[in-house]
Amino acid sequence: MTEAGRYLRDGIAEIPVWNTGAPLEELEQSAAARGDGALAPMDTNENPLGPSPKAVEAMVRELTRVNRYPDGGCTFLARAVAARLGVGEDMIVFGNGGDNCLRLIAAAFLNQGDEVVVGHPSFLVYLMSSRIMGARPVSVPLRDHVHDLSAMRRAITDRTKLVFVCNPNNPTGTIVRKAELEAFLRDLPPHVLTVLDEAYFEFVSDPGYPNGLHYVEAGLPVIVLRTFSKLYGLAGLRIGYLVGAAPLIDSIRRVREPYAVSRVAQAGALAALEDREFVQRVLADNEEGKAYLRRELESLGCLVVPSHTNFLFVDLRGEAGEIAGALRERGVLIRPGAAWGLPTWARVTVGTREHNRRLLAEFGALKREG
Ligand code: PMP
Repeated sequence: MTEAGRYLRDGIAEIPVWNTGAPLEELEQSAAARGDGALAPMDTNENPLGPSPKAVEAMVRELTRVNRYPDGGCTFLARAVAARLGVGEDMIVFGNGGDNCLRLIAAAFLNQGDEVVVGHPSFLVYLMSSRIMGARPVSVPLRDHVHDLSAMRRAITDRTKLVFVCNPNNPTGTIVRKAELEAFLRDLPPHVLTVLDEAYFEFVSDPGYPNGLHYVEAGLPVIVLRTFSKLYGLAGLRIGYLVGAAPLIDSIRRVREPYAVSRVAQAGALAALEDREFVQRVLADNEEGKAYLRRELESLGCLVVPSHTNFLFVDLRGEAGEIAGALRERGVLIRPGAAWGLPTWARVTVGTREHNRRLLAEFGALKREG
């Protein structure tokens, strides 16, 4: 066997391979074979209502044109998103999903040995993209499930280049509020760039929630991440974007692949953006499902963190890995907290009414079985 180690860049061997699990189709087949009916995939914060029908139509139309490369600049989509957000087109760059956007940020800004301040538990892709560049993640524990911005400020050194604030936070579903975020941003030394990850932005209705674009407009060194994967139901399409001051976005364009976002993805995202009826339905269903799940999980003895997103962070008061394994055998997928070092916790995505009902029925049965 070829020994890869001798060829590897420093630090790569320590990065674990990201395992996204078995193919959904395989799990669906097993659930059907067991007679469990449809699978209830509540483990990856996807939109259970599917993609917007208008996006599907636009994508199908675009399929006949895939012999041609996509528009590398995503011109029409950039125009539409810029108009919607009230920013310049030169302040936006699209990537092959938000994950790819995070990789672009790392490639544009991180040197070997730079420090990157992140919350814990938070979105684990920050760690991976930092490590790939030879930068060192510095994890700061959350306080009461919320980013502890004072502690994050104290973790900043002369070597810090980036800070990631996941707002709302994945996996806890919590937000940091306007006053504290603003104080944090204004107090940062000028060598630190802040990434506000707003993948779940559209789900938040709390008036105290800060829109990261205000800080971009105020001229602070902030880059905002948004995605079409969640509200718009396009996780499988892979399209997200970054908004920031034009010179920062220009730096990111330098490390971007020429054709990073497919034709189909650009067409689907553009149509999804215009489908306001679908978006309203997604938000209404999510609120209803989230309230129901929270109430019922609490009545089953769980501790549920109040969430501003399409998922709940839950202390199952038991071995979450085992519970998730048993639920999986019954066709219900949830994400156990082991990935964040929290063995009794799990992240549960709000599903359709049927998914939510299934989860509660199967979890209730497991509890009774002891
Ligand atoms: N940020 C956060 C906090 C997320 O939860 C996700 C998706 N799990 C992403 C970014 C990236 O999403 P995508 O690559 O699907 O756009």
